[in-house]
Amino acid sequence: MTESEDLRNRFEAAMMANYGTPPLALARGQGCRVWDADGNRYLDLIAGIAVSALGHAHPAIVAAVTAQVGKLAHTSNLFVHEPGVALAERLLALLAADGRVFFCNSGAEANEAAIKLVRRKQGSSRPVIVAAEHGFHGRTMGSLAITGKESIREPFGPFGLDVRFVPYGEAAALARAVDRDVAAVFLEPTQGEGGVIPAKAGYLRAARQACDAAGALLVLDEIQSGIGRTGAWFAYQQEQILPDVLTLAKGLGGGLPIGACVGFGDCGSALRKGDHGSTFGANPVACAAALAVLEVIESENVLGNVKAVGDTLAGGIAAIGHPLLRGVRGSGLWLAAVLTADKAPAVSAAAQAHGFLVNAVQPDAVRLAPPLILSQEEAQEFLDAFPAILSAADAGAAA
Ligand code: PLP
Repeated sequence: MTESEDLRNRFEAAMMANYGTPPLALARGQGCRVWDADGNRYLDLIAGIAVSALGHAHPAIVAAVTAQVGKLAHTSNLFVHEPGVALAERLLALLAADGRVFFCNSGAEANEAAIKLVRRKQGSSRPVIVAAEHGFHGRTMGSLAITGKESIREPFGPFGLDVRFVPYGEAAALARAVDRDVAAVFLEPTQGEGGVIPAKAGYLRAARQACDAAGALLVLDEIQSGIGRTGAWFAYQQEQILPDVLTLAKGLGGGLPIGACVGFGDCGSALRKGDHGSTFGANPVACAAALAVLEVIESENVLGNVKAVGDTLAGGIAAIGHPLLRGVRGSGLWLAAVLTADKAPAVSAAAQAHGFLVNAVQPDAVRLAPPLILSQEEAQEFLDAFPAILSAADAGAAA
C-alpha cells in the first residue's frame, strides 16, 4: 500500500464523510509546487481553493509566522496586540475608505458577522436579504441561508432569515427585488463556486444604485475575489463603487485561517460592545501572516504578475482548439476552462495524472486559481500539457 492509500484509508475511518475521501494526500509544498505523500510532484493550480496567494512555504510568511508564534501566539480579544491593529490599519489604507474591521477565522464567519451587522444597522422593520441564485457564501446557518445553491441549502432549512433570490447578473431583476423591506443585498463580484462566472460590466454599479434607492445596504463577498485574485486588490474597485460592507478571507492569510468583515462609514460602528465575537478572531499569528501577504503583494508587484500571467493562461486556453473545450472565462489568476460536456471531474483526474492540480468546480467547468506568484513558465507548462489532458479525459482515461 502506498503512503497516499494508507492516509486515505485512515481518513475514511477517522473523519466524517462530508468531503468524501480526497483523491490525493499532500505532504509538502514549495512555491507553486506540491508533493504528495509518495513523493510525486504537482504544479498547484488551485492553491487550496484560491487561498495560498504566495504559494507554499513563502519565506516572508514563514518568517512572520515563526517570529510571531515564538513571541505571542494567542491573546483572545480580552487584549489588544500589534499585528491585529496593524492589519486592520493596513486593510483600511488599501481600501482607501473610512471604516472599521472585525477579524474572524473563515469566510463563512465573515459573512455571519456581516449578517449580524446588517440586522443591527437596519433593525427588524427590514426583514429581507436579497442574494443571488447559484451564489455561495459559506456553510454555517446564516451564510448557507443566503447561498443560492438549493442542493446544499435546502436539506438544512428553515434558517430564520427571509431571503429573496434573484438571477445573478440581471440588473433589472435585482432592482425589482430591492424594496423597502430589504435590509441588504449580498453579492459576489464574480461567482466563484458557481463556476467562475463574472457579473456583466455595470452590474455592481446597478446593485449600488438599487440599494441606494431603497435604503438597503450593499454587502460584497470578496472572500474568493479579493486580495489580488482578479488583478485588482478588490474586484469591486473595477466598477468604481464602494460597498457598505466587504467580507474577506481565503487569500488574506496566505494559508493561515483568517477572515475579515469591513464596515464602511456608519456600518463600521453598527456592531456595539458585546454584539459579536470570536475567541480566535484576530489571532496574532494569522494577522502576522496576513501582514506578510499584503506586504509581498505590494512590494513585489504581484498584481502586475496576476494580470500578465492571467492573460497568458486565458489567452493560451482560448487558443486551444479541442472538441472538449468550449472556452475560458474569468479574469486575473481566476479562470474556468469551460467544457463542451460534463467531464470536469475526468479532466481534473487526468490533470493530476499529468502532474497538475486543478478543480472540477462545476460538472462542465474546470477552475484554475493558482498562487498569485505563478510564473509565465509555469503557466506555459500547463498550457503545453492541457490538450493531452483534455484528450485523456475525453477518452475516459486518467493518463
Ligand atoms: N464566500 C465565498 C465567495 C466563497 O468562495 C467561500 C468559500 O469558497 C465562502 C464564502 C466560505 O468561506 P469558508 O469556506 O472560509 O467558510
